[in-house]
Amino acid sequence: MASQQHCRRGCTAAAAAATASGSSSATDGGPRICVVGGGVIGRTAALRIKQALPGAAVTLVAEKYDDTTSHGAAGLWKPFTLGDTPAEAVNRWGGETFRHYMQLYQSADAAAAGTILTSAYQLLLERGPDPSWAGIVPGFRHLTPGELAAYDPEGVHVHGWFYTTFITEGRLYLQWLMGQLAAAGCVMEQRRVESLHELAPAHDVLVNCAGLGARQLVGDDSVFPVRGHVLRVRAPWIRHYTNSQCLDSDCYIIPNTDTVVIGGTVQKGDSDTAPRDAERAAILDRARRVLPSLAAAEVVREWVGLRPGRPSVRLELEGMPLGQRLEDGRDSIPVVHNYGHGGAGLPLAWGCAADTVQLVQQALAQRQRH
Ligand SMILES: Cc1cc2nc3c(=O)[nH]c(=O)nc-3n(C[C@H](O)[C@H](O)[C@H](O)COP(=O)(O)OP(=O)(O)OC[C@H]3O[C@@H](n4cnc5c(N)ncnc54)[C@H](O)[C@@H]3O)c2cc1C
Repeated sequence: MASQQHCRRGCTAAAAAATASGSSSATDGGPRICVVGGGVIGRTAALRIKQALPGAAVTLVAEKYDDTTSHGAAGLWKPFTLGDTPAEAVNRWGGETFRHYMQLYQSADAAAAGTILTSAYQLLLERGPDPSWAGIVPGFRHLTPGELAAYDPEGVHVHGWFYTTFITEGRLYLQWLMGQLAAAGCVMEQRRVESLHELAPAHDVLVNCAGLGARQLVGDDSVFPVRGHVLRVRAPWIRHYTNSQCLDSDCYIIPNTDTVVIGGTVQKGDSDTAPRDAERAAILDRARRVLPSLAAAEVVREWVGLRPGRPSVRLELEGMPLGQRLEDGRDSIPVVHNYGHGGAGLPLAWGCAADTVQLVQQALAQRQRH
């Protein structure tokens, strides 16, 4: 196990404080639950498990607590790059998460959590069906010809949507989650887990939220990187989200608290995290064509991240055989898998965590019966 000293060095102050105080508020004899993954999916799952089971000892273990993929995300609520994940599940998870952001937005924590309610314009090259999530976002409607003309200087788009949605900036929201975890009494450890088996002796249920890391952690070869290259520019006059299907590629402009994110690339199977000159130039060029005022915006940051792609989100309970009998007689351990959220970790995390809680409770109930 990683020492508390290690956590103090590597984790955020909130994590260190929680761990240093040894503050898991588990009742003696309560279930011991370990969540692997310090991105938005793991932090949210750990928080909601602790909220639902206050008597449990909940430990979050992650190789990285800073600079995860979740930190780099602009945090737009829009289900995206989710493969064949059924629309019913996406809408259930996404709807619950949308309602969570609404509560956060109306609370005193909105600024700390980086939650912004914004208008959204989606410009399309062809007419197609409305998205399955159109009923979740307020005010979804088709753009009028006048709006299309105003937001499409090149006149190439034939259709578009308007809606209102949330942006919950990854960097700030993760920090907010860390504070919630510390206050709830979760313990944070920073270290790499080579195999879930190593966690089995000290825990009753494991929760796998390792994102792209699940490929190695549980040998899931269907997990793949989806490379994304974005720039952050200083453009305080832009307070609204635009997504344009340009002729050559997609272009999005997403306001965050201090910067505006412009992107981006969606490259399946590409795991190169080095920025590429040609892509940088293309991203800037497309964004300036969609919104010419961006020519005046200074580029302040560049980032390439890897979305955790999968043919569909994996959210299920399995009994993992341990290949040996532990001292307490167990030869398997329940594992709740919650990973593969592609480009939509932030729109789905709160809802996926609700299902994760139910599966953890189911696993604990089964354990009691045996
Ligand atoms: C350019 C770009 C823009 C994006 N924009 C948006 C957006 O606007 N809105 C949105 O919702 N999403 C966006 N995304 C996608 C979003 O970032 C992901 O969906 C989300 O971060 C996935 O969260 P996660 O917790 O599953 O993974 P991660 O954030 O990658 O976290 C995985 C965690 O697991 C840990 N881990 C992995 N393996 C191990 C191991 N073996 N042992 C211990 N710990 C381990 C890691 O250290 C890390 O803490 C964007 C992504 C990119 C690249």
